[in-house]
Amino acid sequence: MENWLTKRAKLDPNKTALIIEHSDFTFSELNSTVQLCAKKLHNYIHQGERAALFISNSFNGYIAILALQQIGAEIVFLNSRLSSDELQFQINDSAAKICLVDDSSDYHNINSVDTNKFLLSDILSMKPDKSFKPVEEFDNDDVTSIMYTSGTSGRPKGVLQTFGNHFYSAIGTSLNLGINDKDSWVLTVPLFHISGFSIMMRSLIYGIPVYLITDFNEEYINKVLANERATIISLVPTMLKRLLNNLPTGKHYNDHFKCVFLGGGPIDNWTLLRCDMLNIPVIQSYGMTETASNVVALNFRDADRKVGSSGQPLFPVNLRISNSDSEGVGDIEIKAPNVAKGYLNRQDLFDKKTTADGFYKTGDIGYLDDENFLYVKGRKDDMIISGGENIYPEEIENIYSKLSGIENIFVIGIPNDDWGEVPVAYVMLADDAYLTGEDLIGFGREKMAHYKVPKEFRLVKGVPRTASGKVLRRKFGDIKYKQI
Ligand code: ATP
Ligand code: MG
Repeated sequence: MENWLTKRAKLDPNKTALIIEHSDFTFSELNSTVQLCAKKLHNYIHQGERAALFISNSFNGYIAILALQQIGAEIVFLNSRLSSDELQFQINDSAAKICLVDDSSDYHNINSVDTNKFLLSDILSMKPDKSFKPVEEFDNDDVTSIMYTSGTSGRPKGVLQTFGNHFYSAIGTSLNLGINDKDSWVLTVPLFHISGFSIMMRSLIYGIPVYLITDFNEEYINKVLANERATIISLVPTMLKRLLNNLPTGKHYNDHFKCVFLGGGPIDNWTLLRCDMLNIPVIQSYGMTETASNVVALNFRDADRKVGSSGQPLFPVNLRISNSDSEGVGDIEIKAPNVAKGYLNRQDLFDKKTTADGFYKTGDIGYLDDENFLYVKGRKDDMIISGGENIYPEEIENIYSKLSGIENIFVIGIPNDDWGEVPVAYVMLADDAYLTGEDLIGFGREKMAHYKVPKEFRLVKGVPRTASGKVLRRKFGDIKYKQI
């Protein structure tokens, strides 16, 4: 395909491409700014080389990403919340030639990382390399981004995402949402995560503006959604809850607002109900770094009918359940043009996760109902097998989270001589709550099969999480707790 940015600048030169605080840029202005940045970066990095990016959601970060694509360099996206050791691993693993650091990001953890660092502001004050020419084509098979998985199940893997992956991901999403040229997308999820970067790619592919939000400020975002012509916003569940808690009563989003596009993990029913009452349509989705954004989405039309479902596989996505049990629950496998090319330096692992007929084994477990709606039960690694019965921690957590006094609850399996494994729960109670282990066991026995009720309740102050906020169940052994 022709270079997406230069093509879009030719097609829609005067259309707004980017809105950041009080500044607007047309596609033509965006293109010129990016080309100038690319000329400066070209002093340090060339086509086929790899550059790491340590950025926040800033204008310079946005421009640098697009500039590296113009050069034809592979972009290694670093999560700015990683520790120095984790960053060092990703820098070494990717063998990035340079690491570009955004001025507005918190440098703290990148400071001690051994790499060839440059401040973006220093690059931007350099002389441009006049000989630079942007790449003419974005080849479907060329890797443009390398993103590390969250590291929930083990060491993060560098996912090789191609232009073709991003293109088909954008097409699948637009066929699902019915995107038109009047749409615009609010970008407040991290640019270094697939949820953020995919919005940038959609903007070029669809020719629609992005509202780039530099800091997650609920009040400001609610104002943008109320007063601007913003039609879609991508959020993770915690962000949505924060927006709802800050929404002034009676105040609705602008008349053109289409939906909250929700990813990252399951959402509780209470939040969905609140959105319903406030007339805020929510589209839930399921996806992963390896599929370059969502592969399954639940339209608001079906939300009431299909509570608990992540939705139907998008048009380009072939999704099946393998090794299913008598209730149809089994391994979620995907074949789609947006499934990544592989893992950097770990092709063996990626091959192991690919079936002989080309499906990617997600490692998640779920089932499809008779209308092809997917219900995700959790990760295979987290599944507890007790006395031959499969137990899904999320199911137990969902039930307990409705009990007043429980702030957070997480369930894992521990070895047991009689049953193989038994579930135990790690709980955080609300400040004024007083619940004993007996109360909690009693509640569980009323609501679920007895083998699912945690055998022990462990009071904790917090649980280990990944840099993207996911719960690290494999590290629960290190937590200090008090049995209640
Ligand atoms: P790692 O692969 O390193 O263990 P990770 O899987 O957490 O990390 P991501 O690619 O960020 O890394 O996350 C994708 C995973 O998030 C999915 O495989 C799934 O387990 C979970 N997930 C995503 N969306 C949903 C959803 N709607 N419902 C339940 N789980 C979801
Ligand atoms: Mg994963």
